[in-house]
Amino acid sequence: MIKVFKFGGASVKDIDGIKNVASIIQNHQEPLLIVVSAMGKTTNALEGIVNAYFNQTGEAFNLYEKVRADHFKVCETLFGANSETSNLLNDIFVEIEWVIEDDVHDQYDYIYDQIVSVGELASTTILANYLKKEGRSTEWQDARDLIITNETYRDAKVNWEATKNRITTTLANKLVEQNIVITQGFIGGTSDNNTTTLGREGSDFSAAIFAHCLDAASVSIWKDVPGILTGDPSVFDDVKKIDAMSYREAIEMTYYGAKVIHQKTIKPLQNKNIPMYVKSFVNPEGAGTVINKNLVDNYPPVIVLENNQVLIKIGTRDFSFVAEDHLSSIFKKFAASRIKINMMRNTAISFSVSVQDTRARLQILIEELQKEFNIEVEKNLQLITIRHFKDEVIEKLTKDKIVLLEERSGETIRFVVK
Ligand code: ASP
Ligand code: MG
Repeated sequence: MIKVFKFGGASVKDIDGIKNVASIIQNHQEPLLIVVSAMGKTTNALEGIVNAYFNQTGEAFNLYEKVRADHFKVCETLFGANSETSNLLNDIFVEIEWVIEDDVHDQYDYIYDQIVSVGELASTTILANYLKKEGRSTEWQDARDLIITNETYRDAKVNWEATKNRITTTLANKLVEQNIVITQGFIGGTSDNNTTTLGREGSDFSAAIFAHCLDAASVSIWKDVPGILTGDPSVFDDVKKIDAMSYREAIEMTYYGAKVIHQKTIKPLQNKNIPMYVKSFVNPEGAGTVINKNLVDNYPPVIVLENNQVLIKIGTRDFSFVAEDHLSSIFKKFAASRIKINMMRNTAISFSVSVQDTRARLQILIEELQKEFNIEVEKNLQLITIRHFKDEVIEKLTKDKIVLLEERSGETIRFVVK
C-alpha cells in the first residue's frame, strides 16, 4: 500500500536536515509519495522578492540573488560543482529573473504564485536528486501537473474531479514502478498550465489531497515537535503530547486556529478513513500523534493563542437596533474582502467581531463598513481559545488581562483579551 509522507520547511532547512529526511525515507521500503515544502524560511524570502518588485524598492534582484545563492550552496555541498542538479536549479530560478526584469504587472496574486512556487520546486529537486545519489529509485514529479485548481491565485481551489483523474492515471503507476516519488506541497496548476498556490502552510493540505486520491494507507506529517501538543511549546513550558485524536477533534482544533496542521487537511482524509500521523523528524522512532476515526474520551485542556487580533465594533448611525438587514450587509462586506470572522457578538445597538489583522486588506474593509456604520477599532489584541477547558486553566490564562469578548460553547471557551 502507498503511504504519503509530508516534510515541512524546518525538516529540510539545511544539509543536515536533508540528510536526516533521506535517512527517515531509507527506513521505509514501501512505495512512498513524499510531499515537501520549501527549505526553511524560503517562502518568506520569496515573498520579500515579490514585495520589493511590486513596490519597486530596487532590492528585488539582491533578495533574489541571496535565495538563489543559499540553494546553490546546498546543491554544491551535496553534488559538487556543475552537477546535473545545479542545471535543474538554474532553470527553476531563472523564471524569477524573467519576472522581476519585466515592468511591474498589476496582478499581484498571479505574480506572487509564479515567484513563490520556486521554493518548493527547488527543495524537491535537491531532495529527489540526493535520494537518487543515495541509490534509491526515485522520481521527481511536478505537482502542477496533478493538483488542478481554479485561478484564484494565492488561495486556489482544488478541482477534485480533474485532480483525481490525473493522480489515478499517472501517479499511482509511477509509485509502483519507482517506489519513491517526490513532489511539491503548496502548489498546483490551472488547466491552462499557470502555477497557483493553495495558501500559506498549504503543504499539509497537498499531502491530504494526494492521499485521498491515491487511497493511501496513511499520511505522516513530519515536524519539529513530538506530535500534537496541548499548546505552543515556545509559549508554554508545561505542554503535553496528545497520543490519539479523532478527526472531529482535529478539525475543531484547526478551526479554532491551531497551526500544527493546516485547516483543510483533515476532511479529505476523514472522507476516506485514512489515518494521519504527526511525527517528529528529530525522533522518528517516537509514536507521535495518530488522528483517526476513533473517539477519544478525555482530552486534556488544549490552548490555542492567536495574536494580532482586531476588535471591530459596528453600530448603526441612527441608534436603531442592529437587525437582519444590517447583518446581511455586514457579512457581505466581510465575505467580499475574504476576512474571516473569528468571534462575534450581537447586542442591541452594536455588533462586535474579532478578526486577524490583515493590515491593508482590513483597512479597506473598515473603510467599506464606515460608509454605512459607526465603527470603533481596537488593535493588538489576543484571542485565547481553550478546548476541554478547566477553571484553573481559564484563571491562569486570563488573570492579568482585560477580557473584551467571551464565548462559551460546548467544550470550547474563547476570550479576546488585552
Ligand atoms: N512553503 C509554504 C509556506 O511556507 C507552504 C508550506 O510550508 O506548507 O507557507
Ligand atoms: Mg512551512
